[in-house]
Amino acid sequence: SGKFFVGGNWKCNGTKDSIKQLVSDLNSATLEPDVDVVVGPPFVYIDQVKNSLTDRIEIAAQNSWIGKGGAFTGEISAEQLKDIGCKWVILGHSERRHVIGEDDQFIGKKAAYALGQDLGVIACIGELLEEREAGKTFDVYAVPSWDNIVIAYEPVWAIGTGKVASPEQAQEVHVAVRDWLAKNVSPEVASKTRIIYGGSVNAGNSADLAKKEDIDGFLVGGASLKGADFATIINSVT
Ligand code: 13P
Repeated sequence: SGKFFVGGNWKCNGTKDSIKQLVSDLNSATLEPDVDVVVGPPFVYIDQVKNSLTDRIEIAAQNSWIGKGGAFTGEISAEQLKDIGCKWVILGHSERRHVIGEDDQFIGKKAAYALGQDLGVIACIGELLEEREAGKTFDVYAVPSWDNIVIAYEPVWAIGTGKVASPEQAQEVHVAVRDWLAKNVSPEVASKTRIIYGGSVNAGNSADLAKKEDIDGFLVGGASLKGADFATIINSVT
């Protein structure tokens, strides 16, 4: 179901120096050609990364505003992200939902707006009610096109805990999400939309997860901060 997709979510980590090192490690890594690779630096380092990282890897922001820019202190608009060369934005991450308090309405608005600006959206869903959460997130505002959406399933209990979902557990949910897409959007969208897994993915467990038919890639947190580990995960495509 689509080209394998591996995203690195750097979250609120890094300094100019550590990011310089990480970029240099990624630039010298050998990466499987048939994988889409994206990294998501904190906003303030996007320009640094854009100017130093190989074009082989695209850049995602970790958030964007719900609409056009203006008097919204502290926010970053989708237009601004496009302007500095971001191709993607990560929306609805569980840390935004549960630590910062974003709800489905707000996330749905952001997703619709970002898609309207031609950004790809890595739409995160999680927990135990994936199907329903997917439904709520995507139903709130009509999704203008599914071509630029990657769905990341990240069970909250697996994020940053070292407790990775088993390949069977992840596969089961991915199938449920795909069924939801088939019923609520279209069978065509269901078959071509990439559904990626996130939550304690590392260089040691990615290959087994990647073998599952409905796991179309990963969204990687901690392990994406180490160039060699991230490269191993990218290259675990089967
Ligand atoms: P970890 O890989 O650190 O568990 O984080 C997963 C995640 O939240 C990626 O968005």
